[in-house]
Amino acid sequence: RAKEENRGSFRFFEAGMDARMQERRQLEAELRIAIEQGQFEVHYQPLLDTGTGRIASFEALVRWNHPLRGLVQPVEFIPIAEESNLIIPIGEWVLRQACRDARDWPEDVKVGVNLSPAQFKRGDLITVTLSALSNAELAPSRLELEITESVLLHDEAWVRSILERLSALGVGIAMDDFGTGYSSLSYLRTFPFDRIKIDRSFVADLVKAGDSLAIVQATIQLSQKLGMETTAEGVETQEQLAILAGEGCTHVQGFLIGHPVRAEEARQLVTPQAPRKRAAR
Ligand code: C2E
Ligand code: MG
Ligand code: MG
Ligand code: MG
Repeated sequence: RAKEENRGSFRFFEAGMDARMQERRQLEAELRIAIEQGQFEVHYQPLLDTGTGRIASFEALVRWNHPLRGLVQPVEFIPIAEESNLIIPIGEWVLRQACRDARDWPEDVKVGVNLSPAQFKRGDLITVTLSALSNAELAPSRLELEITESVLLHDEAWVRSILERLSALGVGIAMDDFGTGYSSLSYLRTFPFDRIKIDRSFVADLVKAGDSLAIVQATIQLSQKLGMETTAEGVETQEQLAILAGEGCTHVQGFLIGHPVRAEEARQLVTPQAPRKRAAR
């Protein structure tokens, strides 16, 4: 009897696995259609320069405008896109679109684009980046590529050579979600980073946890000494902003500054508006 029950629960477990697998396969199939039909959108979140109080750049964040599910957030499809390598065409599309959109912004406003490890494994990242920039007629210095520590775990020499070539072209390189991965501090020295982005988990605990404050202070100082800029992610309160600016953090990003918005809205945020004419009566 006990044996039967076990078998039963095993079958139940199996059925659960099967449902998840099917859901994954379904999403993957839908992602292929999404790529063909162009169902993606790029939203832009502002990064504020704490020194000038102006918008220094926008981070490009992909969304999937699904015909039935509505606007799907990246947490729900980036992992599947990465496992299935569909992140390669999606990432390339985001890069091209971000460069085109950034063209409409003032010349001192940059654009940040996230890269997945899979995009490094292919040999054509530099060609694709150069092509995106030249098609959009965007200067390389206006693009910043964001990579997470997980990228550095792959073939280190290969990744370094690609980053160095991009950096030599004038493209900025940012270490994203700093503090959450496995990377050693020596990576900051041996890879050509221009910016460290402090993960929002440290910012969230900034006010209440002394150890988060210590980590944030140390990261900002390290970044300054290595000649890099520092962005704090996930800034949601004035109190967090005040602490970060006081510690010398050069840029902040988060809901306090602005949520990710569509390209047209982003453009309006950085385009000086001609004074509006009063509506004629
Ligand atoms: P990320 O690169 O760390 O991007 C920042 C994420 O934090 C965004 O989530 C943003 O909406 C969210 N965020 C910003 N400010 C706040 C805040 O004040 N509070 C909170 N709680 N969250 C905030 P999103 O857009 O859902 O993107 C999630 C992740 O998906 C990104 O994390 C990035 O790793 C990945 N991703 C997004 N777009 C792309 C893409 O085009 N390519 C690749 N490879 N990954 C992407
Ligand atoms: Mg990012
Ligand atoms: Mg980040
Ligand atoms: Mg993050």
